[in-house]
Amino acid sequence: HTPLEQEDKEVYDIVENEKYRQWSGLELIASENFTSQATIEANGTALTNKYSEGLPGARYYGGNEHIDELENLCRKRALAAFGLNPEQWGVNVQPYSGSTANFAALTALIQPQDRLMGLDLPSGGHLTHGYQTNKKKISSSSIYFASMPYQVDQATGYIDYDRLEQNAGLFRPKLLICGGSAYPREWDYARFRKIADQHGAYVMCDMAHISGLVATGEASSPFDFCDVVTTTTHKTLRGPRAGLIFFRRDKGDDLENRVNQAVFPSCQGGPHNNTIAAIAVTLKQAASPEFKRYAQQVRANAVAMAEALKKNGYKLATDGTDNHLILWDLKPQKLTGSKVERICDMAHITINKNSIAGDKSAVTPGGVRLGSSALTSRSMKEEDFVKVAEFLHRTVQIAVAVQDKAGSKMMKDFVAALEGNEEIAQLKKEV
Ligand code: PLP
Repeated sequence: HTPLEQEDKEVYDIVENEKYRQWSGLELIASENFTSQATIEANGTALTNKYSEGLPGARYYGGNEHIDELENLCRKRALAAFGLNPEQWGVNVQPYSGSTANFAALTALIQPQDRLMGLDLPSGGHLTHGYQTNKKKISSSSIYFASMPYQVDQATGYIDYDRLEQNAGLFRPKLLICGGSAYPREWDYARFRKIADQHGAYVMCDMAHISGLVATGEASSPFDFCDVVTTTTHKTLRGPRAGLIFFRRDKGDDLENRVNQAVFPSCQGGPHNNTIAAIAVTLKQAASPEFKRYAQQVRANAVAMAEALKKNGYKLATDGTDNHLILWDLKPQKLTGSKVERICDMAHITINKNSIAGDKSAVTPGGVRLGSSALTSRSMKEEDFVKVAEFLHRTVQIAVAVQDKAGSKMMKDFVAALEGNEEIAQLKKEV
């Protein structure tokens, strides 16, 4: 019996059930992964007990000699993992997560009410890149700053750089943000830099989704063209839930102090040192040849899944993928992403509904997002992903059948098999 099991069986059982759910189903959520046992061990250590506000060598609490050593090691590994020269780049490893890293980066780079442009959420951007609707400013990044999002071209699904350049000419942003949560293609970082330079703006890349691919050279690196680069550490990088902020040290406008101050004291308090230990472990792993092979496999698997879906006649945004994710447009099947997400849940295939460019409503988006990073961590190869695509095809066929008011044989079989199931009853009500 572990101490947790002995002291709190209720929480222990929830943890065990979640572990079982993760390992017994097919995890295709593009922002998730299975971190290593070593990372989990580092995350659950006595380092959680320690306060260490400040930076190594300049703390507001005593007793930080080991924490200083750890944070310095983590910073060194973060720069090494992305091939960065410490004279040109520095990094803050204290952000609690991706959203806090992004808000700290905005706090460092621009003033309240300054103008920023990020990829619109329905186009694949993240909330923290200035998301707002026609009616409401949703994210603090649009509440405290003036946001004018840019979009993907509805016909191709690729970022419309010409329109971004035109709109930047009108809006004159202080900050351009590249990177996103549901964009399956490479980013033209040089073009962002060029547009930003026309307005004396900063360029920030949020490489959260692809940082494991960037670290291994499986996606192009944003560092040559950006002033600040943020990332989460728990997606393709396969670490604990946390964030990092990289900043240029050689630009002459004191980004180093501005970012460090923005993290603490502006946005956060004491660093989560147990998490920093886990990040350090992850970054060591990310520099290994095994991780390079993993990242190559992540991409190969995403392509295999995309091709298999296309063979069954499905439409994918941008017609494919360059990275770990696929944006699957279900509008031709007249299905909503929510319905497919629910039916997949019943089949223990975990995916998430996602907007597709041109969707009328963000509440009932017309597609789903699929990612290959988690199942690749479970050693799956291309042929396994072809099989997964086959399962997805069957699930969508069921969803289409459930949709068919006349009722197909498949729907009858499906309902008969799941007679009495509450979620099915709910689905029938919706039909
Ligand atoms: N940035 C991007 C591009 C993301 O996709 C996400 C989360 O999915 C975040 C930031 C936010 O990270 P967190 O959930 O750790 O706050």
